[in-house]
Parts: sequence; structure tokens; C-alpha cells
Amino acid sequence: MKFATRMERMQASEIRELLKLTAQPDIISFAGGLPAPELFPVEEIAKVSHDLVLKEGRQLLQYATTEGRPSLRAKIAKRMADKYHTNVDPDDILITTGSQQCLDFAGKLFLDPGDVVLCESPSYLGALNAFNAYQPKFVEVPTDNGGLIPEELDKILETTPNCKFIYVIPDFQNPTGRTWSMERRQKFMEVVNKHNLPVLEDNPYGELRYEGTILPSLKSMDTKGLVMFLGTFSKIFCPGLRLGWIAAEHSLLSEFVKIKQSADLHTSNFDQGVADAYMEQYDLDEHVKEIVALYKHRRDLILESMEKYFPAGTEWTHPEGGLFLWLTFPEGVSARKVFNKCIEMKVAGVIGDAFYPNQKTDRSMRINYSNMPDNRIVEGIQRMAKAIKECM
Ligand code: PMP
Repeated sequence: MKFATRMERMQASEIRELLKLTAQPDIISFAGGLPAPELFPVEEIAKVSHDLVLKEGRQLLQYATTEGRPSLRAKIAKRMADKYHTNVDPDDILITTGSQQCLDFAGKLFLDPGDVVLCESPSYLGALNAFNAYQPKFVEVPTDNGGLIPEELDKILETTPNCKFIYVIPDFQNPTGRTWSMERRQKFMEVVNKHNLPVLEDNPYGELRYEGTILPSLKSMDTKGLVMFLGTFSKIFCPGLRLGWIAAEHSLLSEFVKIKQSADLHTSNFDQGVADAYMEQYDLDEHVKEIVALYKHRRDLILESMEKYFPAGTEWTHPEGGLFLWLTFPEGVSARKVFNKCIEMKVAGVIGDAFYPNQKTDRSMRINYSNMPDNRIVEGIQRMAKAIKECM
């Protein structure tokens, strides 16, 4: 069979093969990004689902509007205002099948083959894969511990034609766990305003802040309608419901609605009803507090264990929230070698090069700490420390 040329870029990669190794059951895996299932509000969801089907089953099981359930969109608009200082009208929100679907839609809306997508270096692998189907060129914007460097973005935009949008994760970035400061956000908005560059602001982790206060979103600073905000219930509620959203200026949103309609008509009406009814009857903020308390504990434990066991010269980020941190190995220590040694010792992270569309460094590894009991965190870090030492 002859497939479309776009599929050539989606073939099995070396990294994808390596990821398979991390899924062996006897491995302590820091490679995934799964929320802790013990916190899913199972009983509450059973109750609201039961009541909901009896109360409005005939509408709930019927086709529905593409944009999404109006009362859920209203709750999202309010939540965004409360958490991220935005002023979004519920009509400017489209409910999607996870925020992952918005990434695909953004590619579909903006990208012709050869167009340029800008992203942080490194960036979220799932987004790079979603955009890849539309055959773009990726240009990586340099970052440091404070996140994306706006001056570097400005330089790139001065010299690079066909930049269609920039994809960014300013809060507890996947993969690095870094968060942009307020000054960086302001400077970034100055640069994108100067160049009229559309921005895809992906924010799945912002509410999972373990210290300090949530910073205003880029969307809240947007005066020109350039920022599209992607949100999700995956990390603050349950990923299996596949509920995400995009908030964008009205005419831009209507383009996404057209795409959504032709992709799958609408997001599961049932799942939207469940999330909506849960938020009516329970306090989602209280639930998020529980998630934050558990992940904060796990983050503290993993940082403490790294401090105790990792050899000098290995560096790592100290995320103030979210699910990930980023290891950088000492000069001359290959991340691939460490990974292979880790697999021998039955522990795993993700090789950092998976998150760079172009540049390869062989120096880094992404570590997830949200989905593991204490004893496995400590044991896993001890094994990893041994693996790093053997590669030095
Ligand atoms: N963006 C980022 C940065 C992510 O880490 C994830 C999930 N890991 C997603 C988007 C997709 O989330 P979902 O489709 O579950 O909303």
C-alpha cells in the first residue's frame, strides 16, 4: 500500500523503540507522565454519572453541539479567570477531546508543508508529533532556567520567513518542569505583538503549583487576540474522560469549530456532563488541593533522594509544580549510555533528545514523579545513581 507522504515522518523512531523498553513490568519507570490513579474521585463520579443518566439521559446520549456543553464552558471560563487572570467569554471556548486534539487542530489550521513552527528547546513530544503530521520545519527557540529567552525569539523572527505560530508551555513545562517568570512573560508578549505571531499557550499543569502563587497566563496579557489557550481536565480531574479545551479570540475559535465539526462532530456529551455535574456537586478546588499535596510530597522526596545519591556534576531542575523534572548529565556522559545502563538495572527515564525536534545533545533525561509510591521513588533514584556513576 502507498501511504501519504506525511506518514514518512511518523514512522517508528529510535526513541519510540526505547520507550517500549521502559514499559516492562519489573522496571521502576520515571518515564511516563501518568497522574496518580489513587486520587481519581471514583465514588463521586459513579454517583454523578448514575444521577445524570437518570436525569438527562435522553439529551446526554444524543448528538450535541460542536462547541460543547454550555454550562461546562461557563465553568471553564470562570475557572480560567480565577486561576489565570483571563477575561474569556464562554462563547470563545471550544471543548475538545483532550488538549491533544487542539494540538492537531492547530497544525491543521496553520501549517502547509515547509511552514515553520517555533517551539521551546526542548518541548513536549506529543505536540511535536501532532504538528509533524502537517510536515512543518521546526525552529527551536533557546531557553535557560527561566524558560524561553524572548530576545532570542526576536532575533529568530527577524530572519526566519513563514513562521506560522509558536507553541509554548510557560507553566511547569513538559519536559523540563521550568516556569517562566513574570518579566519573561511580559517581554515575550512584546515580541509576539511586534511580529504579530500567533501563540499556542499549552497549560495542563498550571494549577499543580506546590509553592508560590499561580502566575497570570499569556492569554491574560494578550491585547491583540494572538494567544490561543489550551486547557485540560486531565491533570486536575481524570485523563480518561479526554476533556480539554481551547480558548481563543472569536473569529479564530470559529475556525477551530469548523475543524472540530469535520473531525468528530463534538466531544463526548456524556463525559462533558460528568465533569459538569461533578463540579456542581463537589468542590474541584478541594480535589486539586489533594493532588497538589501528594505530588508535592513526591517531588520533595525525589529531590531529596537525588541530592543524597546522585554523583557530583549531575544537575537537575527544581520544579515549583507539575509532573516532571529534567536531568543534565556531566560533560562527556552519554544519556543513551545511562539509559541502557538504567534498563539493565530496571529503572527508566526518557532520553532528553526525544524532546528536541532538531538539536540532539545526548546529555539529558526527563523524570516523572507523580505516579509512584515513596519506596519506589527512593529505590529508583538509588539505581539510577549507580547507573550514572558506572557511565562516568
Ligand atoms: N500538553 C502537554 C504539555 C502535555 O504534557 C499533555 C499530556 N501529557 C497534553 C498536552 C495532552 O493532554 P490531554 O490530551 O490529556 O489533555
